[in-house]
Amino acid sequence: MLRLTDRLRELDDVSPEIARKLVDTLFRQTRIVIISMSGFMMLGAVGLIGTGSIWYLGGMIVAAITGAWRIWQARRYEISRQTASPVTWAKRGLVSTWAAAAGWGAWSAVILFEPERNLVIVVLAVQTACMMGGAVRNCALRAIAVGQILLTQTPLAIACLLSGDPYLGLLAVFVVMNIIAALALSKFLHKQTKQLLLQDEEKTELVNSLEIAKQELEVINTHLETLAATDALTDVANRRAFDLAFAREWRRACRDMTPLSLLMLDVDHFKAFNDCYGHQAGDACLRDVAAAIAACLHRPGDMVARFGGEEFVVILQGIDATGATKMASDILGAVAARQIPHDASSFRHVTISIGLASVSPDQQSTMEQLTARADTALYAAKRAGRNCLRIAATPTPSCPETPKDRRCRTVSPVAAVVPG
Ligand code: GH3
Ligand code: MG
Ligand code: MG
Repeated sequence: MLRLTDRLRELDDVSPEIARKLVDTLFRQTRIVIISMSGFMMLGAVGLIGTGSIWYLGGMIVAAITGAWRIWQARRYEISRQTASPVTWAKRGLVSTWAAAAGWGAWSAVILFEPERNLVIVVLAVQTACMMGGAVRNCALRAIAVGQILLTQTPLAIACLLSGDPYLGLLAVFVVMNIIAALALSKFLHKQTKQLLLQDEEKTELVNSLEIAKQELEVINTHLETLAATDALTDVANRRAFDLAFAREWRRACRDMTPLSLLMLDVDHFKAFNDCYGHQAGDACLRDVAAAIAACLHRPGDMVARFGGEEFVVILQGIDATGATKMASDILGAVAARQIPHDASSFRHVTISIGLASVSPDQQSTMEQLTARADTALYAAKRAGRNCLRIAATPTPSCPETPKDRRCRTVSPVAAVVPG
């Protein structure tokens, strides 16, 4: 006889999870074990009382011992299944199931010769039904199911053949046919069970890998979104990101009736800087200027973007002209404080000029007008000698509409006034 481990080698061919699920099925049968144990006890008691034969008492003892063993084993499995490997538990289940099968097999072979024929027929019918049920329930582990079928039916078939009774000889033929049918059924069910578990495992793996791929994609998307919104040279927001943010902040200002300020910043004499120090130094200078501007912005609504070339733009959400003037002065000071040498400039270091335009809830304006006003103010700063700030004059209300109506219209004829 092959070693038990060899008989259960099928558990090595599958993953530990599937092995565990297969073994689980062996020990989830407490209810059915109690029912069949009670049935055999009842049959034994009927036989013992009816015929007085000691063999019926033997059957009761076999039912009690094997039933109790299997119930105890199932309980232990429930409590401490992690303490042993699936193969170890399978071996334990195999021993108890085979022992019960051998007991039933021997009992039916002995009972066959009892004089009360009707009772014998009942016992054999119940035993066969239980055997078929066992072959189905234990099909997850084929070694167990096969042993159960052979150990319950072979003694009966042999006893029938040895009896010399032609009718029992015929019964032996049917018992053998029954064995073949039960073996085929258990094989089929075993294959199906394993296939379903494997499919289930593949599905779980697929779901897991999809989840990982989704997370990776989200990280990549976030990275790409950041890249698409960032200016490659200066690392601040690019023009595209500015356009989106400006439209968003404009809508918010209209909705919440809050002020909005825009700063246009331009590096002074930057062409001369490039001519003097080269384009690479010019690029480094732009990075430095961008960092200086960004360092002055602290609120989530504030944003600096590279508008193009050596020009930057700053959005100040919820800040009116007074607050924006303070911020713009800080930025002017921050860039100057970097003391980036610029021999071609009269200031001897890199400076910027700023044009500031603000819009308040009670004013009439559009996004385009706000940008144009800031731009005009910037050129006023240039004309004023550079390294300074100029503020666009606030447009005056021209009709008695509500502030929200006025601010959210798209076309407005009001022109910016810039103090020279
Ligand atoms: P102003 O004070 O009136 O602003 O004079 P400016 O020289 O700064 O202005 P101008 O428009 O005459 O020149 C801008 C220069 O900025 C020209 C261009 O070569 C340079 N520039 C634009 N983009 C970049 C860039 O990405 N890197 C470098 N190094 N230079 C750039
Ligand atoms: Mg310029
Ligand atoms: Mg310039």
